[in-house]
This record gives sequence, structure tokens and C-alpha cells, in this order.
Amino acid sequence: MNDLTPSAPQTILVTGGSRGLGAAMVMDLAARGRNVCFTYLSSHSQAEQLASSSKPGQVLPVCADGRDASAIEQAVKRCVEHFGRLDGLVNNAGITQDRSALAMTAEQWHAVIDGNLHSAFHACQAVLPLFVEQGHGAIVNMASVSGLIGVPGQANYGASKAGLIGMTRSMAVEFASRGVRCNAVAPGFIDTDMTRKLNERRVAQMLERIPMRRFGNGKEVARVVAFLLSDDAAYLTGQVLAVDGGLLA
Ligand code: NAP
Repeated sequence: MNDLTPSAPQTILVTGGSRGLGAAMVMDLAARGRNVCFTYLSSHSQAEQLASSSKPGQVLPVCADGRDASAIEQAVKRCVEHFGRLDGLVNNAGITQDRSALAMTAEQWHAVIDGNLHSAFHACQAVLPLFVEQGHGAIVNMASVSGLIGVPGQANYGASKAGLIGMTRSMAVEFASRGVRCNAVAPGFIDTDMTRKLNERRVAQMLERIPMRRFGNGKEVARVVAFLLSDDAAYLTGQVLAVDGGLLA
């Protein structure tokens, strides 16, 4: 399919869409009638299953390592070839490698900065020329409350997410006059594979700090992302929306 007509459905690229929050976003956006391309790293069967649960051709999985600038550039090309347009990017792919800063290795530091921050920068660089040329585009970066408050054992992760927030604000002011919006979502603790790795003591500590006394779910984050991508958020840029059950209130 290569539909270049202006009435073709809006198309969104979600990085790291095979599982967790990314998969919830893919499903939510597809249910809203958007075309969705998503990247993933190694979850081939989950990616295929997700694509086949939508209307044929509406969801395109692309195996692309976000840390590799040329791989993400190729993914953007495939998306535009397949759908004929690209209107939004969600930088969602991310990893944790939690450890006390006393014991954290240089590899663990670099892996998380590379996987969460450098990868988002590569994806922004891959879509921005198109967004600027067409005079519209929306970018949503998945930050975290860890980029705004201290979470023990997350020096690498917190730095990567605080970096994403800085990048979001910089790009928002740089491209606002060209019709490109850039916002961030800072989830608190959401029930996914990422948080299922936390031990019971840490879960109990976090629940104590969350005013709603529960972890969020993927749908609750996906709906906020869909709002930021939509024209309902047309006058909103450079913002960080915390979706955290009141943790930061
Ligand atoms: P998750 O369940 O661990 O899923 C991570 C996703 O990212 C997977 O689809 C994974 O692909 C993909 N991915 C990881 N590294 C990649 C790479 N180098 N290239 C391409 N894809 C890659 O994580 P999640 O909980 O859904 O988190 C999604 C985002 O929200 C992350 O940025 C995370 O930091 C942020 N966040 C999550 C929470 C939370 O409580 N869950 C809170 C705050 C922020 P594979 O399946 O192929 O591995």
C-alpha cells in the first residue's frame, strides 16, 4: 500500500511496541483508526501476534535496534513506503539495569543511556526532516518519574529519562514554529515486564508512596499518549505529563 492522498489515516511510529506500554499504545492507536508501525528488538512472535490481531495491513512490525541510527532510519523509510505518510513518533523503547551507583559498571551506565536516550535522539533525527518539510508532526518521548525524582539504584535510568525531558523541551522550542510538537510522558509505576522485575520489598515501598495505592496499566498510559499525538493537544508542546497515580503531586 502506498496511499499518498491527504485522507489516508494518520500514521504513527512507536519504538519498542512488541510488549508492555508500547504494545498497549499500538492497540489503542489502531483502535482509533490510526495506521501504526512499531519497532522491536527480539520479541518476533509477540510482534507478529500483535500485528495479526489488527486489521490486515494496519499495523506494521519492523525489527530494528533503536541504538543503531541507520536501522531506525530504515524503519522510518519502510513505514513511509508502506503507509505513504508519517505523522507522529513515540519514543517508547527503553530498558533498565538497576544497581547501586557504588557497584554500577561503566557498561551498565552506557547501556541504559544508549538504549533510552541516544536511541530516542536517533529516531527524532530520522523523522524531523519529514516533519519539518510537511509542516506537521508530533513527538512523544516516554520519560519516567525517575527523571524527575530520585529512585535508588537508577542513576543510569534516571539520567537517561532526565536527558529525555531536556531533549523534549529543547526540540519543542526549536521546532514549534515549523508545526512540530514535542512532549513527554512520565509514567510512575505501571504493570509491565519492566516492573515485574522489582522485588516484593520495592513494590511495597512504592505502593506506600503512590496516593492511588496501585500500579497503573498500559491502557492508562496509552490514552495519554494518544491525546498528545492528536489535534486535541494542538497547542501543547514542551510539556511533561506525569501518569503516576499522584506520586509526584
Ligand atoms: P518493557 O515491557 O520492558 O518493553 C520494552 C520494549 O522496548 C519492548 O518492546 C522491547 O523490544 C523494546 N526495546 C528495548 N530495547 C530496544 C532496542 N534497543 N531497540 C528496539 N526496541 C527495544 O518496558 P515498558 O515497561 O513497556 O516500558 C516502555 C517505556 O516506558 C520505557 O521507555 C520505559 O523506560 C518507560 N517507563 C516504564 C514504566 C513502567 O512502570 N513500566 C515507568 C516509567 C517509564 P523486545 O520485546 O524485542 O525486547
